[in-house]
Amino acid sequence: MTARPVHAPMTQFPVRDGELMLAGIPLTQLTEQLGQTPFYAYDRGVIDRRVAELRSALPPAIKLHYAIKANPMPALVSHLARQLDGLDVASGGELEVALASGSNPQEISFAGPGKREAELEAAVRAGVLLNVESFREVEHLSGISQRLGLAARVAVRVNPDFELKSSGMKMGGGPKPFGVDAEDVPRLLRRIGELGLAFEGFHLFAGSQNLRAEAIVEAQQLSFDLALRLAASAPAPVRCLNLGGGFGVPYFPGELPLDLAPIGENLAVLASRAAGELPQASLVIELGRYLVAEAGIYVCRVLDRKISRGQVFLVCDGGLHHHLAASGNFGQLIRKNYPVIIGNKATPAETEIASVVGPLCTPLDILADRMTLAIAEPGDLVVVFQSGAYGRSASPAGFLGHPAAAEILL
Ligand SMILES: *Cc1c(COP(=O)(O)O)cnc(C)c1O
Repeated sequence: MTARPVHAPMTQFPVRDGELMLAGIPLTQLTEQLGQTPFYAYDRGVIDRRVAELRSALPPAIKLHYAIKANPMPALVSHLARQLDGLDVASGGELEVALASGSNPQEISFAGPGKREAELEAAVRAGVLLNVESFREVEHLSGISQRLGLAARVAVRVNPDFELKSSGMKMGGGPKPFGVDAEDVPRLLRRIGELGLAFEGFHLFAGSQNLRAEAIVEAQQLSFDLALRLAASAPAPVRCLNLGGGFGVPYFPGELPLDLAPIGENLAVLASRAAGELPQASLVIELGRYLVAEAGIYVCRVLDRKISRGQVFLVCDGGLHHHLAASGNFGQLIRKNYPVIIGNKATPAETEIASVVGPLCTPLDILADRMTLAIAEPGDLVVVFQSGAYGRSASPAGFLGHPAAAEILL
């Protein structure tokens, strides 16, 4: 018999006297200081360790960007901006956060399939790099550039002719609203040249949440080769080649952390090829969740303990309205449990099987379905790990009108 899969161990936060510790503060003390539940807490130390791991595994020639949509909290974005080489934004709102973070606008790029005219103009004014995703955008940018007397900096986001294997969310390959199909890119490049926009390179993003290093390696190789072929039709030398990201983190039982070593080795090969074949190009990797997911927890309080026909339900003051992903309703086909513990009983003598549910009148509002947990009572604190990315900002906070979750960077 094979063992039942369990969650990868969550070792990023120490436990002292049975309590989870964040930045040296016991969870109950932190909750008291905040004066409210539910909340998200992000630990700078965990983020910094992750950046250091990446820097040591990837070759120095690779530029590291943060994709803000994973977690747009301004303090967190500023913290990352100080350590990384650039930021990627996907809306005018994220562009404002990025510009306010102190990041060099030259190192900010703007992607997204439906950019409004006002967003395009703000980006050109700020001097950020636009990852163009359609012929229409290029025509708009030409008008804006003429009006402002400022040539828009553009890279072409390519919808590749391959897919990222075993990816949680596919963002490229086949028919997609993202980017321009690889076969149409030469025509778009000609138009960019005719209009006199400042062409700088290519952006390829095949998919997200991948835990298999060999699939990421393959996608990066294929992306590099495709960019090299397309560069032959480009109106100017490639100065920036953004190979996307897709690095995953373990959320569910049976998943293991990504092995960075083969990815680093492959990127070293690509960097040395780039030095010969695209001599002016810097290689960029853009990561969202990999940088921040593990550094964050979501915390809510048990309001009630109910037993229904023998099954234990811990009813909490937080749920899917704050953390849609942990409820299983953000891109999952089959609901699986995030790693969850009772944070003030982190080394329990006794456990039980219990379900953690939220206060919403819908059966979708589940944070843990029949998990082994410490025996919890009203007042105890439920902790959902791996919550630093696609948490608060990716949840329907207005649904049912409960208070918003607080947010703190430690
Ligand atoms: C969402 C997104 C990312 C970040 O994806 P993660 O899975 O969070 O790493 C990077 N680039 C683009 C273009 C995106 O849309």
